[in-house]
Amino acid sequence: GEAQRRHPRVAVYDRTMETDQANRLRRLGELEVAMRSGELDLFYQPRLDLRSGRVSGLEALLRWRHPVDGLLGPADFLAGAEATSIIGALTSYVLDRALGDCARWRAAGLDVDVAVNLSVRNLVDSTLPDQVSEALSRYDVPPSAVVLEVTETSAMTDPTRAVITMNALRALGVTLSIDDFGTGYSSLAYLSRLPVQQLKLDRSLVASIVDDEVDRAIVASTVDLARRMRLHLVAEGVEDAATLEMLRHWGCDAVQGFFVSRPVPVGEVTAVVRALDAAPV
Ligand code: C2E
Ligand code: MG
Ligand code: MG
Ligand code: MG
Repeated sequence: GEAQRRHPRVAVYDRTMETDQANRLRRLGELEVAMRSGELDLFYQPRLDLRSGRVSGLEALLRWRHPVDGLLGPADFLAGAEATSIIGALTSYVLDRALGDCARWRAAGLDVDVAVNLSVRNLVDSTLPDQVSEALSRYDVPPSAVVLEVTETSAMTDPTRAVITMNALRALGVTLSIDDFGTGYSSLAYLSRLPVQQLKLDRSLVASIVDDEVDRAIVASTVDLARRMRLHLVAEGVEDAATLEMLRHWGCDAVQGFFVSRPVPVGEVTAVVRALDAAPV
């Protein structure tokens, strides 16, 4: 467990490690059942457009209402799913739910898009573009109302195949976004060849711009870079007014974070969006 990670040289037999492993396996088995039995839920976090002062979209974030362990976040089960083919089914499930929810918001008069996170395995799955295309038709959602988020690291794992998948997705008209931007090791030259329209600045950089001069310089330059590359820039993890004002001052396009809103259950989305639109942060 935790102690093992902090002291990797201490190679003693650790009972908690065995338990962790057993838990992971058990959860993986349960996850397939959970998908069918309705224990998986999407929470949504609003993205605030800084120019209009309105909510431009919502990011779907997976939650598992586990019957014994309570409400679990992706950190509790996603790594296991990503290591197996379950991630394919999981992504289809999330896409279906998220596009269905987005169709309902739009029918209710909200001019919002929905953002779905993809995993590295999804990027080498040649059936993904068809799945997205089918979900778009099923719910009659315009492709311009769908954002697919891909981390820098996953795009780098098998770049050739990732670019093929991303081009096919792009051809559908959906927006592609680089998530957790600034945490990977990819070069800007490489990133500039990806067919993406949006960058999401990682919260580890965003969180420290008020206190840390170096992070402030990195983020300010990234705002400039995004503008020059004509990419839409979203800062994630905005937790206070000072951070938001700094980003607004530099010309960052949009923000997400607890300061604007925490991720909320789907039933609360309409009310939260209407409240934010009525009283811009
Ligand atoms: P992400 O896509 O970078 O999502 C942002 C994470 O930061 C979310 O954590 C969100 O709850 C959290 N967050 C948002 N604002 C703040 C803030 O102001 N402060 C702090 N401290 N945290 C904030 P969450 O929901 O635990 O998700 C973690 C990661 O799991 C996501 O990171 C994403 O990579 C992955 N994930 C979530 N849902 C899905 C999914 O449906 N499919 C896949 N493949 N991955 C998912
Ligand atoms: Mg994301
Ligand atoms: Mg992110
Ligand atoms: Mg992140």
